[in-house]
Amino acid sequence: MLTDQELLRYSRQILLQQVDIDGQLRLKNGRALIIGLGGLGAPVALYLAAAGVGELHLADFDTVDLTNLQRQIIHDTHSVGQTKVDSALQRLAGINPEITLVAHRAALDADSLAAAVTAVDVVLDCSDNFSTREAVNAASVAAGKPLVSGAAIRLEGQLSVFDPRRAESPCYHCLYGHGSDTELTCSEAGVVGPLVGVVGSLQALEALKLLAGFGEPLVGRLLLIDALTTRFRELRVKRDPGCSVCGVQHG
Ligand SMILES: [Zn+2]
Repeated sequence: MLTDQELLRYSRQILLQQVDIDGQLRLKNGRALIIGLGGLGAPVALYLAAAGVGELHLADFDTVDLTNLQRQIIHDTHSVGQTKVDSALQRLAGINPEITLVAHRAALDADSLAAAVTAVDVVLDCSDNFSTREAVNAASVAAGKPLVSGAAIRLEGQLSVFDPRRAESPCYHCLYGHGSDTELTCSEAGVVGPLVGVVGSLQALEALKLLAGFGEPLVGRLLLIDALTTRFRELRVKRDPGCSVCGVQHG
């Protein structure tokens, strides 16, 4: 199932007993949906492509702007004005021609989002606003797909994994249901580039673990990253039995 070229390309992770050939095959058969190709989606897409995740589904309706380049490292100066999806497709095809890339260039409504989530094995929320995060979470819960959620603003980052296949797992809404779209985005509040790189890289790592089936995913835990002091903290997070998104299904 793996060609000689693939064995060579992925040899440094196949060397790990936790991955091995079986794990690499699971990655090859794995499908991931990346919502947003900005600061978080850039390292997510680069690392998942390089690692050999068989199908990457890329969703973004925005175009590359000069102000993106400080942190969205999948795009370059020549991509300015191009759609983020097309810019990312070129870069990813260059990194790994062995994988399949699926493009979602239009904004996803409830129906197309549900279809996009159903078509994959893991969802990565790399968006920058509350309403998208809520919609992606609801679709992931409804489809029973694990969601790797990351966020970064100014000098603070957050990361968690929500897995509706596990009865004890909270969903995004259990934690953040009180949020609102009045919260600032990076384009308004600012953010340092390496911080979104750290959070996005950790999202990619969590997705690889879920797809290949090794390690312990960040389920029921919220990782808080303080870039100013370089401190990582972890909070236990519980499912809210009264949650309007996941509470009915599992309650
Ligand atoms: Zn919930």
